[in-house]
Amino acid sequence: MPDTLNVLFLAAEAEPFVKIGGLADVAGSLPLALRSLSNPAMPGMKLDVRLVLPLHRVMRIESDTLRPVAEFFVSREGGNIPARVFELSRVGMPVYFISGEPISNATSVYSPDPALDREKFTFFSLAALEMARRLDWQPDIIHANDWHTALAVYALRSQQADPVMKRLRSVLTVHNLPFMGGDGTDVLAAYGLFPSSDEALPGWARTQPLPLGLWSADAVVAVSPTYAKEILTPDFGCGLEAFLDSRSASITGILNGLDLMAWDPETDTCLSENFSVANLSGRAANKAALQSQLGLREDLHVPILAMIGRIDQQKGVDILPDVLGQMTDLPWQFILLGSGDPILENTMRALQLEFPERIRSVIRFDAQLSRLIYGGVDMLLMPSRYEPCGLAQMIAMRYGCVPVVHATGGLKDTVEEDKTGFLFQTTQVAAMVETLRRAFAGYASPEKWERYQRNGMKKDFSWSRSAAQYAELYRSLIMD
Ligand code: ADP
Repeated sequence: MPDTLNVLFLAAEAEPFVKIGGLADVAGSLPLALRSLSNPAMPGMKLDVRLVLPLHRVMRIESDTLRPVAEFFVSREGGNIPARVFELSRVGMPVYFISGEPISNATSVYSPDPALDREKFTFFSLAALEMARRLDWQPDIIHANDWHTALAVYALRSQQADPVMKRLRSVLTVHNLPFMGGDGTDVLAAYGLFPSSDEALPGWARTQPLPLGLWSADAVVAVSPTYAKEILTPDFGCGLEAFLDSRSASITGILNGLDLMAWDPETDTCLSENFSVANLSGRAANKAALQSQLGLREDLHVPILAMIGRIDQQKGVDILPDVLGQMTDLPWQFILLGSGDPILENTMRALQLEFPERIRSVIRFDAQLSRLIYGGVDMLLMPSRYEPCGLAQMIAMRYGCVPVVHATGGLKDTVEEDKTGFLFQTTQVAAMVETLRRAFAGYASPEKWERYQRNGMKKDFSWSRSAAQYAELYRSLIMD
């Protein structure tokens, strides 16, 4: 057993460099949490976790902080592609950035063209693996996340003749199973990877990055205990349920944590007024600021509901018009902050036009506004059809905003009915309306409402427990 376990953590996005969704929160905070664990699974053992990201064109990095550390070629049919690796230090943690044409060609983190993304992330995954062979620091474990980096895990299988690769163990965390990367027949062939021929995988999955990673990883992690069980069923398994069930001994559910320093209502500079569990009074100023900023009637007594997230079928945004339309007998205001599917974006713009006095659809990514919303609105609505973990509900609770959510995945694991929030069992309109009416009844009693708020604020959503679970998983892989 080494006294230091080296882990290379691969992700497509990470705070504070670039953020599209929850993966960035996780990749920005879990590696640091792992590094600072005081007793990572074994007394005396330390975790040296390092992060590697693509050097996207849209990153928030001062280029003079990047130090070049390696240069090599990634083999590809039609001409090998030069890759360059840069490094910077974040709170003492080395972070590597890989650049190369498939990455710098793309103007956004994720492209609307799936083929471009497959090219970019296949290049990135293979370059990250090659980097691991060339640095003077070598990982014991490759920890990949989602389809974007799953091929690093798969490629390891074909590099077993290399002693450095042979001793590497692999973990693949699934943040969102339906996003599998699509048919990669062409790109696999171009980069010298063969499709799997294992009949345990359905035929269509044998060329897709995520299933290939799931097939080859030593351990698979789903981002909540409930999601780890759900993906074994036809409703959530996306056609991989039988295969995943056959691998269930290697699948665990580990809930994501929150970076409590980054999300703290006592210090958050985007709030009009800070507040704490001991004194919630500052929330009123945030609510007023929000109403004034968005041109809503300034009224501290009217409950404000909000939704913050990607505008996508997954998030159940399309159900909102019917639900809100059935609740016009009650006073409420509603704020949506999000962007994504252009058709659903238009649906939400139209909803604001239908109810201009009470609905605001803010169609953009706005980190500052999101914080004022968490710190000022009364309820966060999450009608997600499925939700592997979900961070928004945890942030909401930390900010005294009561979540009203579908009882699925990580939402079920983090929100407690009638204690920290409210849950609906199905995403049927009637179930949501009934649950929202229950929440409004709770809101009508300020004492009761404050109890919900305080219960949520007192919950420990820090990384400490989950990071220890990851550390234990790493340890078990090395001991095998
Ligand atoms: P997912 O990872 O599926 O996108 P999560 O709930 O796990 O959903 O994480 C979403 C994260 O992204 C949260 O930190 C949320 O506050 C943030 N977020 C999503 N959309 C926006 C937006 N339009 N503006 C600001 N922050 C956003």
